[in-house]
Amino acid sequence: MGQRIGLDTVVREQGARTDGYLDFATKPDGSRFRIPIIIVKGRSEGPVLLADACTHGDEYEGAEAILRIARELETREFAGTFVGVPALNFEAFGAISRSSTTDGLNLNRIFPGNPDTYITQRLADAYVKRVVKYADFVITFHGGGDVLHLEPIVGYLPAEDEAGKLSRNMARAFGAGYTWRMQNLPFDGVSVQAYRNLYGTPSILPEVGSHCDRLHGRDRAVGICRNGILNVMTGLGMLSGAEPRPAEGLRDVELHYLHASNGGLQTLHKKENELVRKGEILGTITDVFGGEIEVLRAPYDGVVIGFWSVPVIRPGDWWYLFAKVLD
Ligand SMILES: [Zn+2]
Repeated sequence: MGQRIGLDTVVREQGARTDGYLDFATKPDGSRFRIPIIIVKGRSEGPVLLADACTHGDEYEGAEAILRIARELETREFAGTFVGVPALNFEAFGAISRSSTTDGLNLNRIFPGNPDTYITQRLADAYVKRVVKYADFVITFHGGGDVLHLEPIVGYLPAEDEAGKLSRNMARAFGAGYTWRMQNLPFDGVSVQAYRNLYGTPSILPEVGSHCDRLHGRDRAVGICRNGILNVMTGLGMLSGAEPRPAEGLRDVELHYLHASNGGLQTLHKKENELVRKGEILGTITDVFGGEIEVLRAPYDGVVIGFWSVPVIRPGDWWYLFAKVLD
């Protein structure tokens, strides 16, 4: 079914692989707003797996993994079709920016988009209707980007129906130490919600990659994404092999975003994977004279998944990504 994704420009066609672009608008300089797409066909029939990255332009680990996988699959036997979108928000990707630069919108708050309004709305709409629609399963990569540390965690929308079960199975098969039951989210317009509502597509949202790890841990993070894609493909029967086993000590969690109320120099008192009791201090903020102006305490017994990793924090920024362990 991968052939139903119509590319506007084909850049390269070689063997089982086609690289090209889907266009959705012309810029003032005559160049195009476009989405780069890689399609690799397996040797036998099977599902279409779509993997995308850079919905947020500064989250690159999934992008690198998609490029690795596409190269590997050119010569590897598999069933179905792999569709890789390494830079979904291509403008933000090039600008090293979380959000779009033209209209300032955060792509992962506006799905399923709108074909008649702002450019990021048009991007979401074109992607959903021209690409996601033809996918049987989706992996949409996120990460810590430029300001957060995040432990690898794989999001899925909980539901008792078939799509919900398949999503949870994909999340467990991915192989990270945490699965994230995406309930009680403080925002809407998230990609996986739209895919679910529009097409019932089982989808997962892995968060892999950390601002802190980019110096020495980049290859490891990309490797986690790569292995995760392969594990999901094996779980879906696209690759032969034993059913992937969930990670040792896997925890299923509900993630909460704890914001800073004030700006200043912040200190992290608890680090990734630490189990914290309700009321224990997570972080403190001092002003420019060294005076303590804010203390953040754990709202319940939980575990630290991530945190703001830049020494300065601003009022309203995400400070801790703290999770309740459900299972
Ligand atoms: Zn993201």
